[in-house]
Amino acid sequence: MTKLADRTSRISSSPTMKVTATVDRLRREGVEVIDFGAGEPDFPTPGPVKAAAHEAIDRDFTRYTPPSGIVELKRAICERYRADYGAEYKESEVIVTAGGKQALYNAALALFGPGDEVITHTPHWPTLAEQVKLAEASPVLVRTYPEDGFAIRSSAILDRVTPRTRGIIINSPSNPTGALISERELSAIADAAVRQDIWLVIDLCYEKLIYDDVPHNLPGLLASRCRDLTVLCGSASKAYAMTGWRCGWAIGPASVIAACGAIQSHTTSNVTSISQKAAVAALTGSQAPVTAMLDEYRKRRDQLCAWLAADARLRCLKPAGAFYLFVDIGELLSVEGLRTSLDFADALLSEARVAVTPGEAFDAPGFIRISYATSMDLLKEGTSRLLEFVRAHDGQAVSNATAGRAG
Ligand code: PMP
Repeated sequence: MTKLADRTSRISSSPTMKVTATVDRLRREGVEVIDFGAGEPDFPTPGPVKAAAHEAIDRDFTRYTPPSGIVELKRAICERYRADYGAEYKESEVIVTAGGKQALYNAALALFGPGDEVITHTPHWPTLAEQVKLAEASPVLVRTYPEDGFAIRSSAILDRVTPRTRGIIINSPSNPTGALISERELSAIADAAVRQDIWLVIDLCYEKLIYDDVPHNLPGLLASRCRDLTVLCGSASKAYAMTGWRCGWAIGPASVIAACGAIQSHTTSNVTSISQKAAVAALTGSQAPVTAMLDEYRKRRDQLCAWLAADARLRCLKPAGAFYLFVDIGELLSVEGLRTSLDFADALLSEARVAVTPGEAFDAPGFIRISYATSMDLLKEGTSRLLEFVRAHDGQAVSNATAGRAG
């Protein structure tokens, strides 16, 4: 058999995208499915952003751009971070990428290599660790716990630093937990990074989706404490409902950004010219659509938590950010019935036609992730199917609990 390169055996394909693919397949087969798996806004891209894209096409702005992005967009990114965080960056410190995913990938390739260890927190979005492996470095996963609000603790991260540690990746708000890192914890990590010369890569993909007025000026904090060691990765995807446009960015020291630019110039080259113009409109235009979407997500989050409270075995915390509920279903699993959260998600899909992402995808068996980036009506219907499904499987869990006690 033809042999593939070794790196293909080190990584697995995105489990979160697998759920989306299954939902697509079922729908094509005519099965009606409620999708709580999707990690993307259900809102349309705001009108002015779409108009800017139409205009780009009409003006024939359809050719190659510089591989690292158009100056106008780099300026808009700098301006946004200055306005939002007081963080000052120059255009030479910004690269425009195909979503936050490519920003993170470029950074991993530019900063990490064989023998390096890169620490991140878990449960985590799987791509973060897989990209570290693609860079031939080793991910080191530091667990966060529901009892502690999935808080990212500097002490737990710094305990795992070794002479081989080259980087720390922080995702805040976090997918799947919705937890935020506190400025205090990040400060402690930043101070250690300076002492020990460790890169900090910050995944800010959900930075605009924070529900309460809590301090979360990570860019400002890092720009003042360890600017030379920090790479900020952001994205238009979630904030502006632009997942399909593929536009994100990395901001960091000019030398790192130049290395990312060189990598990108030999791989994908520029982000679609039209998307870049659209992103300029998103970043420089009124931010009212972002607030309107956030307000709607907040309503859905609160309502969903209230509905799920009907069954105490669906244990979850109200997330501080992003648009996911990470539900502990451990009490519903049993040796005789649904053994794992993967079984649970599969059965929920085939029996109740509700798609959720099993915790296994995030290194957290025993949980399911429910995305509430979907309409209130669908949330209501999907939640009632979920509760009904749980009731229908009651007997199995109870009989096992009894068996467990007897044994
Ligand atoms: N970071 C996290 C934590 C994510 O969940 C995602 C997308 N699901 C991304 C980055 C990347 O998104 P995009 O490439 O669309 O910006």
